Amino acid sequence: MTPKYIFVVGGVMSSVGKGVASASIGKILQSRGYKVANIKCDMYVNIDAGTIRPAEHGEVFVGEDGVEADQDLGNYERFTDQVCTRDNYVTTGQVYQEVIKRERNLEYKGEDVEVVPDIPNEIIRRIKACQKKNQSEITIVEFGGTVGEYQLLLFLEAARMLKWKEPKNVFFILVSYLPTPSLLGEQKSKPTQYAVRTLNSAGISPDFILCRADRPVSDSIKNTISTVCSLDKERIISAPDVYSIYDVLINFEEENLGSIILKAIGLKTKKKDLIDWNKFSNKVKNIKEEVTIGIVGKYFNFKSCRDTYISVIESINHSAWWHNRKPNIVWLDSEKYENNPEELKELDKMDGIIVPGGFGKRGTEGMIMAADYAFQKKIPYFGLCLGMQIMTIAFARRILNTKDANSTELAPNTKNPVISTMEEQKKLIKEKSYGGTMRLGACPAKLKEKSLSCKAYGVKEISERHRHRYEFNNDYREILEKNGLRIAGVNPERNLVEIVEAENHPWMVGVQFHPEFKSRPLEPHPLFKDFIKASIKKQKA
Ligand code: GLN
Repeated sequence: MTPKYIFVVGGVMSSVGKGVASASIGKILQSRGYKVANIKCDMYVNIDAGTIRPAEHGEVFVGEDGVEADQDLGNYERFTDQVCTRDNYVTTGQVYQEVIKRERNLEYKGEDVEVVPDIPNEIIRRIKACQKKNQSEITIVEFGGTVGEYQLLLFLEAARMLKWKEPKNVFFILVSYLPTPSLLGEQKSKPTQYAVRTLNSAGISPDFILCRADRPVSDSIKNTISTVCSLDKERIISAPDVYSIYDVLINFEEENLGSIILKAIGLKTKKKDLIDWNKFSNKVKNIKEEVTIGIVGKYFNFKSCRDTYISVIESINHSAWWHNRKPNIVWLDSEKYENNPEELKELDKMDGIIVPGGFGKRGTEGMIMAADYAFQKKIPYFGLCLGMQIMTIAFARRILNTKDANSTELAPNTKNPVISTMEEQKKLIKEKSYGGTMRLGACPAKLKEKSLSCKAYGVKEISERHRHRYEFNNDYREILEKNGLRIAGVNPERNLVEIVEAENHPWMVGVQFHPEFKSRPLEPHPLFKDFIKASIKKQKA
């Protein structure tokens, strides 16, 4: 079959759920029997998301191959369960870097290298390479940003050129926003009409419009958009806010989006397979009892906590729902414990706490205090990457009886570097070679048989995704192990400690990796599942 491409672009404003919409469309088409791949194109000049501040741009999602990508790749994986790699992620920086490299290698054979068509051609080449690698029948390409933004133009130009070459294989979905100004109490479609006009000026007409709004889109609005934008009414899809992001695709299917898209692109439904997803969605809506999980972190800009910690949040959700609990996530800013230790008492109200990943010193003393408090008060604790290092430091301070125990990232001159700089990182840090140079992507670990983790995973060997520069210092392994810190997982190739567990505590586990990237709604991550189970147990006690 000739591969088909669906481009997803945003209208009116950003953050209206283009990523979830793209992931949902991927899942819908997959459930109807097609092999899909999702691609995210980001407009920034950064080569990847690894150097971008999380509080501003959201989580850095790590792929199996170690790509540091936009958080939307996480949405794609959670919905379609298809592994994403660097092929699924394109940025302006990558595109220019490749074109310039080729120019330096004389690959343009003496021709001028032009912004158009050479840049759009490289964008197309990358999209096609991803299609080929994944052997996808339908490839969904999401463009970051919103139509009308200058930096989007070259990507739109690439899509237009591809449509011109392959008119029967290329389609466009506009994800737009329809506001209801509170003074009027009436939904407005004009901004969407302008967005369509702007898209038209790039030589593109949308084949579908997904109308994001706080409410369903009325028939009369659909009529207006249909007339003004020359689109059949059935191709204007209502996409109101829903209970959970996993309901988005159920909502789309209620409007029959799968059939409408397949008909438009000239394909047939081969099967229908959303029974488990529907069951899951119904179950989630009927859950009453809560489990309260505190996230002790520092990247809190209270508008976007969700974006910053999206995979952690979703992993909590998946596991809480699995155990028939409604997740109640509480944001706990670690810096306040440093200013007033009395504040730590709020942790008593948590059923479990998580210290997620992070970089740099700010807030880490408060995290160490929280880890120590969780140990003493037997509150379930789950440390993710930095959270594992924090847990190790908290233990070392107690066992070695010195406040000096630390990580060389947080206190370069510490005399007790229980977390130290990985050997290969020393040179990189000196050269300020930061981009894409951490220990990244999937690495194996062997688990200790009598450990909480081994029981939770149900296997002795695992593979998880990493993103860190600092590691557990093996010089301290013996003394810490002798004094109650169980080394539950070790990387067999490099003898790196991957998992630590507290003896004499119901559930205190720190992992050097990021399990949150591998949790799926219908298949929660085993460690998160076990952590929530322990949290429910604490709640009952
Ligand atoms: N800053 C720590 C390190 O680089 C932890 C990284 C993380 O949490 N992802 O090792």
